[in-house]
Amino acid sequence: MKKILVTGGCGFIGSNYIHQVFEKGRDIHLVNLDKMTYAGNIHNLNGIPDTFHTFVEGDICDADLVKSLFEKYQFDAVVHFAAESHVDRSIEGPAEFIQTNVVGTLNLLEQSRLFYQHSNSDNFRFLHISTDEVYGDIKIGKRSDEKFSYNPSSPYSASKASADHLIKSFARTYKLPAIISNCCNNYGPNQFPEKLIPKLIYNIIKNKPLPIYGRGKNSREWIHVQDHCQALLKIFLKGKIGESYNVGSNKNNQNIDIAKKLITILKSNSIIIGNKVKIKFVKDRPGHDFRYALDCKKIHKELKWKSKINLNEGLADTYRWYLNNMDFFISVSKKLYDKRLGLNKK
Ligand code: NAD
Repeated sequence: MKKILVTGGCGFIGSNYIHQVFEKGRDIHLVNLDKMTYAGNIHNLNGIPDTFHTFVEGDICDADLVKSLFEKYQFDAVVHFAAESHVDRSIEGPAEFIQTNVVGTLNLLEQSRLFYQHSNSDNFRFLHISTDEVYGDIKIGKRSDEKFSYNPSSPYSASKASADHLIKSFARTYKLPAIISNCCNNYGPNQFPEKLIPKLIYNIIKNKPLPIYGRGKNSREWIHVQDHCQALLKIFLKGKIGESYNVGSNKNNQNIDIAKKLITILKSNSIIIGNKVKIKFVKDRPGHDFRYALDCKKIHKELKWKSKINLNEGLADTYRWYLNNMDFFISVSKKLYDKRLGLNKK
């Protein structure tokens, strides 16, 4: 039986990944190390049995803990999701981002290296989950491929870029079999409602205005979390060691279009929209990147992976999921997602 250390498995993408690996029903046991920050939610793993998954509450920065987990489980792989992940929070307080995303990643790399060098395990893998934000603002008409230079704009993206550089340095210097995925914006079930799509959905359900930063023109590439997790399974099994893979849908939308799209989709499904559900422009995020756009030819060609879920259908499904799982909003504290953060007030 393969034993895999998953970090941040109680968060949005990590929990969807655990569900997807479980559904594949392989001969695998996952050990999920999660600090349970505001973004970690054990209910995200409802239905996952203890025979398949062991939950360990703890910090990836805790060297003794990570070492003891390696000694106990002799992992075959690490799949690393744990991070502070919200740009506005990184503007409000960057230190936590450096601690978890950089120091925490370094600690996981160190423990993996020590274990790998002593275990002689040829099949060991370290899969690091990163973001398209490391490439920074991308001019209209261009898309960033894996060779594009890093140019992060926020403390969040700078911390993820640092972590990516550490991964590459460990792969090259210590020959640690590590791979990086750089994915665009995800949406889907279990996402904390501080992020755009669940926030819009929550406000639609509650008949509240839809806050959009600036004039809503910022352009993002969106992917359903299940498509992202499918890509991660492919990269894990078939990706080349020491390389990185962009994961995107190849389709960009402005933030305002996402809000308009949601309303149109719901209306076309005969869902009644409250009279207070209107777009409300709010003060823009400081340093807000205008556009991210990935070039994903490498993963299409080399790993034969392409995103499958159409944005309109994915948004409709996601809305239905939140509507049928209103407990999710109750299970996370409202004061953690209701307040505007990261305005860089003097
Ligand atoms: P999330 O904020 O929903 O979840 C993060 C999880 O990590 C939480 O369960 C949290 O408790 C845990 N965690 C935080 N600090 C920790 C620590 N020090 N030790 C152990 N656990 C800790 O994030 P997400 O949206 O699921 O993102 C997962 C990963 O994917 C992140 O690395 C993020 O940078 C990357 N990513 C996210 C997106 C996106 O659109 N959400 C896109 C591309 C890449």
